[in-house]
Amino acid sequence: MDTKYIFVTGGVVSSLGKGIISASIGKLLQARGYKVTIQKFDPYINIDPGTLNPYEHGECYVTEDGMETDLDLGHYERFTGIHTTRHNSITTGRIYKTVIDRERRGDYLGKTIQVVPHITDEIKRRMLREGLDEGLDFVITEVGGTIGDIESAPFMEAIRQLRWQLGRDAVCVHLTYVPYLKAADELKTKPTQHSVKELQSMGIQPDILVLRTERHLDDALRLKVAGFCNVDLECVVQSEDMPSIYEVPVNMQRQGLDAAILRKIGIPVGETPPMKPWNEFLTKQRNAKREVHIALVGKYDLQDAYKSIRESLNLAGIYNDVKAKIHFINSEELTAENVATRLEGMAGIIICPGFGQRGIEGKIIAAEYTRTHDIPTFGICLGMQMMVIEFARNVLDYKDANSSEMDAATPHNVIDMMGEQKSITQMGGTMRLGAYECELKEGSRAAEAYESETLKVKSEKLIVSERHRHRYEFNNKYKEEYEAAGMKCVGINPAADLVEIVEVPEKEWYIGAQFHPEYSSTVLHPHPLFMSFIKACINS
Ligand code: GLN
Repeated sequence: MDTKYIFVTGGVVSSLGKGIISASIGKLLQARGYKVTIQKFDPYINIDPGTLNPYEHGECYVTEDGMETDLDLGHYERFTGIHTTRHNSITTGRIYKTVIDRERRGDYLGKTIQVVPHITDEIKRRMLREGLDEGLDFVITEVGGTIGDIESAPFMEAIRQLRWQLGRDAVCVHLTYVPYLKAADELKTKPTQHSVKELQSMGIQPDILVLRTERHLDDALRLKVAGFCNVDLECVVQSEDMPSIYEVPVNMQRQGLDAAILRKIGIPVGETPPMKPWNEFLTKQRNAKREVHIALVGKYDLQDAYKSIRESLNLAGIYNDVKAKIHFINSEELTAENVATRLEGMAGIIICPGFGQRGIEGKIIAAEYTRTHDIPTFGICLGMQMMVIEFARNVLDYKDANSSEMDAATPHNVIDMMGEQKSITQMGGTMRLGAYECELKEGSRAAEAYESETLKVKSEKLIVSERHRHRYEFNNKYKEEYEAAGMKCVGINPAADLVEIVEVPEKEWYIGAQFHPEYSSTVLHPHPLFMSFIKACINS
């Protein structure tokens, strides 16, 4: 079968959950045996979201090949288990950079370089993933932003051209919003009509409409939308608010979204796949009632800032039949005086990743409190570094221990920059990024965690592969002192001899990882370290 293309656009307002719908379509097609990939095109000028503040753009998700991408790629991977790459996250900045670099090389042979056709051709080339994959049945392309935005116009033009070129091999799914007006007690379709008109004015007729709504939409309303927007009734589906985003694929399947896509393309629909493991997960999710309270000690009080960590905790909770109740604790507000009350009732804590000075002392205070009170603690990246610093200050008695990121002149730089990183002056894309190997020490708590979830272990030697996004490292100069005092280095990168995991084995569960395990937790395969951490929290 030739590759088919599904374009997902959004109208009326942002934050409707286009990423979830795209991921759900991917999941449903996968369940039918198709090979899919999902990619995101973002209209902003940044080359990648790596330099964006989490307040601007939520979490930065890192692919195995070391690309800093939009958090929607996290949804794609968690839903479908596919491994995305740098080719799955494209921004306007990257498109322009490619074209401008080509112009400077003289590749355009004296031509005037314009948005149409040069920018749109480059967009089309990437939408078609030219020269990239073999054997893909479906490429799902989500376009960020909302219809009508000035900056997404070239993407729309590229989609218009591709639909013309590809005929039935391309399908357009448009996600809109149907608001409920309380005073009138009515659901309103006008914004949807306008949004579709706007698309049509750019030469794109949507094939399928997904209506986001807080209330159930009856057939009469769907019929009205179908009639006004030139869309078949069976192609108007509704996406009501669900108790969990993981209910969305089955809800879409129930309404025949995948079947409608196949019909549009002209592929026999066949039987509806049972999605057994997914439904088993949902049953577990619905039945998980007991709450386990987990503190998230970080500096961004924003749902999206630690998205993958939150989802990893949720997923691991569900597989252990509990509901992970996450409490954000602002590390900037933590002091030695209030730490006991702030962490009261917490079964475990996560010390979050981050950059820069702000809020780090609070993370160190939290690490000390949970270490001395033996509360399960999981430090991730900067969180791990703070556990290491706390240990140096309070156990090794180096009161001025620090990371050279925070204090370049510290005499006890227990966290320091690696040699090759020192020469880098540019901020974007220059960290230790992407998947690196980590060899686990036999008998350690971390190794036990991976071994009980054998999937992540690659070989006899207990080597796993995990994703990174950092500049600074555990300073090996202090390794022996740490080990002698009870903090063990139990995960090591074999190629560079860098410390990947530390743990204090005499504690219930006190582990820090230099990498980001949260990026590789999926719905069907929650990450072993999160599984093990949640188990410890349940027992604590
Ligand atoms: N700022 C730290 C470093 O660069 C940690 C980064 C992170 O937590 N992702 O090493």
